[in-house]
Amino acid sequence: MIEMSVEYTDAPATRPEASGGDKMPCPYCGHLLPKDAESCDRCDWTRSGATETAEGKASDAVAVILSVIPGLGHIYKGHKLAGFLWMAGAIPVGIFVFLAAIASAGFGIGLFFFYLIAVMLHAYAVDDRVVAPREDEGEEY
Ligand SMILES: [Zn+2]
Repeated sequence: MIEMSVEYTDAPATRPEASGGDKMPCPYCGHLLPKDAESCDRCDWTRSGATETAEGKASDAVAVILSVIPGLGHIYKGHKLAGFLWMAGAIPVGIFVFLAAIASAGFGIGLFFFYLIAVMLHAYAVDDRVVAPREDEGEEY
């Protein structure tokens, strides 16, 4: 009996990519970068945001969704103070909207969406600090 033994025992499965050398693909867009690159020039990936690899990365979309509760998206992204400020800001805004809603037979509730939209836009635009616990607070905005 003849067996088709096609075992790839000698297959170079663990060989590093020939072209790889000291390059690495961008975790976001796959653009080939130098291994010690601090950021990608094709997208907004930066090493500080990716030191904990993909699973530790905050997503802009998730931040926006979480902003249904104002501030949660910011906290998710590591901006705890900003998150609490947005959350605290929602209280007077909420009271104002509540009063406006009473005065306008419910239409005032729409005002709260402007606040939500502002929060969501900011949560989307703010940079990810989840895995970048740097001491300098210089680049806040
Ligand atoms: Zn990239």
